[in-house]
Amino acid sequence: MGSTGSIGTQTLDVVRAYPDRYGVYALCAHRSIDRLIAQAREFKPEVVCIADESLYEPLCQALADMPVKVWAGSEAIAQVVTMPSINVVVAAMVGYAGLKPTIEAIKAGKTIALANKETLVVAGEIICDLAIRHHTPILPVDSEHSAIFQSLVGEDKSEIEKILLTASGGPFRTFSLDQMRTVTAADALKHPNWDMGAKITIDSASMMNKGFEVIEAKWLFGVPVEKIQVLVHPQSIVHSAVQFTDGAIKAQLGAPDMRLPIQYALSFPERLQSDFPRADLFSIGALTFEEPDLARFPNLALAYEAMRRGGNMPCVLNAANEVANLAFREGRCGFLQMSDIIEKTMNQAAFIPKPSYEDYVATDTDARRIAQNNF
Ligand code: MG
Repeated sequence: MGSTGSIGTQTLDVVRAYPDRYGVYALCAHRSIDRLIAQAREFKPEVVCIADESLYEPLCQALADMPVKVWAGSEAIAQVVTMPSINVVVAAMVGYAGLKPTIEAIKAGKTIALANKETLVVAGEIICDLAIRHHTPILPVDSEHSAIFQSLVGEDKSEIEKILLTASGGPFRTFSLDQMRTVTAADALKHPNWDMGAKITIDSASMMNKGFEVIEAKWLFGVPVEKIQVLVHPQSIVHSAVQFTDGAIKAQLGAPDMRLPIQYALSFPERLQSDFPRADLFSIGALTFEEPDLARFPNLALAYEAMRRGGNMPCVLNAANEVANLAFREGRCGFLQMSDIIEKTMNQAAFIPKPSYEDYVATDTDARRIAQNNF
């Protein structure tokens, strides 16, 4: 899911490198039709699915000479992921849209390689309950969570003292509040270390991405957010670490290359021989760590606050952020204004302590409307 995005295309890089091991059953994309057509021709899946239904006809026409089935619409994506031939679903859609199909894939017992962190931010409790009930493994693709997961191999979770979640700090790490007031989307899209999609690059610049990752870590590893510490680590070589009850710290290091965690999620518990670039510690020289500045990056504090309040509040946080993030990318709001909109929306949205799936759907709609009124 999300085959034409940054994680999707890098997943296909991994598939391409191991043709004897991996094959593609279905490719699902939002609306990048040209890229989807090229992928379908190369990987010859059984099904291609495009979320934007207005692109169904042109997609059918472009693939008319192939035996592939063409489906369209978000309901079709939620169905395609349950097909019997599928072993693993790579969940790499952007934002809230990933929730429904991920739930369907879990119910169908598919192993989930999870890149779409918003799914856990919005409905972590439901997702984790479902995964336990259907014996569905959820393997992290997010580089930090892959690092934590790798550090926990062979360990007992009850012996975790602390999770050390690293953050690059993004392009505005050293900017003053005054400078941050006037930055544009183009400035924010220049990420120093990672090459990612537009939405997550903005989330990364505002540190909402790190706030989401704290929530993601809580659900994936069953650790309360008070035990998850964020460290700004500008070199992006230590991808995260775990501190244990005896004081030992285990970390996973490597080049900032998403193909590594993607490949590990697909090959776990094995490691595959790869020729992706290595991290050269001599040329890196020094690894540094700083405390995050919550005054300049209030989104991180808002994410902790959403988890402290619990219930549907992380869902409100996510919906308001999706609205603010898009507005910033379209030049309709300032960089710091994003946090104001999210905070106001969190204070105005109705609180539901024990939300059902339907409550999350309603909360998402309401919070988006409230956020729009906060511009
Ligand atoms: Mg990450």
